Amino acid sequence: MFRSFPVQRICVDMDEVMADTLSEYIRRYNQTFDEDVTPDDLAGKGLWEVAPQDRQTQLRAFLDAEDFFEDLPLMPDAQEVLRGLSERFEIYIATQAMAVPNSLGPKYRWLQRHFPFIPPSHYVFCGNKSILRADYLIDDQPKNLLRFQGQGLLYTAPHNLAAAGFVRVNNWRDVAEYFAAVPCESVPPPRFPA
Ligand SMILES: [Mg+2]
Repeated sequence: MFRSFPVQRICVDMDEVMADTLSEYIRRYNQTFDEDVTPDDLAGKGLWEVAPQDRQTQLRAFLDAEDFFEDLPLMPDAQEVLRGLSERFEIYIATQAMAVPNSLGPKYRWLQRHFPFIPPSHYVFCGNKSILRADYLIDDQPKNLLRFQGQGLLYTAPHNLAAAGFVRVNNWRDVAEYFAAVPCESVPPPRFPA
């Protein structure tokens, strides 16, 4: 079949793009230390940058906890927009899971539960994201986009508010709008092996 445009591939980051990891991180921090930190307090910064030195070990321990990544809230509209995009693009999930090995099982289950239309063969649990080869990467970390060969989209998060020079999306509605303008054909139905 003649194809005007090849099927394009979008890699999507999980933490702070699909999943609201920051809200759970802040929730555990506030609960443990009886603080009242909000996302607004973290403009241009990570939580570890506002936390005192003697809390750094505990900050890391939050992420290493077996249940941290098990039940993270969804980013608004992520499911609906990705479901729509999956009909026109190849969607891969690319998450830096190796920095927190305990996150592997919970992240796998979270994706199965909330994004059943994305097959596990499209999960990329990686370290350095420069290994990715795709047309697009949606990520909240500027360093990942700087290493990426394709078109990066910076998903706005408190820590990256000051980052300049990127194509920026503030929410999943922006993502939908961006890709609505990208010409492509539908992904053909999967073929069974002969
Ligand atoms: Mg992220």
